[in-house]
Amino acid sequence: MDIIQIVLAPIQNVIVQKNRNMLDKTNIKDWQKELNAVLEEEGIKNQEFFTFMKGKIKRLPLSVEDFEWGVFPMIGENGTLIDIRMVIPIIYDVKSLCVNIHEYTHAYEVYSYLGRTYEWHTEESEQKACDAEKRYLKKIGKQL
Ligand SMILES: [Zn+2]
Repeated sequence: MDIIQIVLAPIQNVIVQKNRNMLDKTNIKDWQKELNAVLEEEGIKNQEFFTFMKGKIKRLPLSVEDFEWGVFPMIGENGTLIDIRMVIPIIYDVKSLCVNIHEYTHAYEVYSYLGRTYEWHTEESEQKACDAEKRYLKKIGKQL
């Protein structure tokens, strides 16, 4: 089974669909633009990265609290990074945007290992992702 299916197994499609219908589509577009701007400021602007991630990102219309969001490095038998999967919330407020910033920061770091031996730097990676969130919140003058 694909790792993404394992991750998504507990989700009930009915709830996902219900939430999806409730979300304002125009708003989501604006939030997506905001995310793109933040990622660019964070130096995450390598087009190859975004192209690589196409089709590997699952965006769910769930509350931030309702799911374990994350980036999943897929390691080959020889220890090299061969692929990445990411599960993030659809962006509908500052909180869900922050989760996106956090996970994109992780994904971008993981991506730097593509084709190379993958090394886990759990603490540093977490710090980096949290810092990116904090910078954004500081910039807009908000706290979560
Ligand atoms: Zn993290």
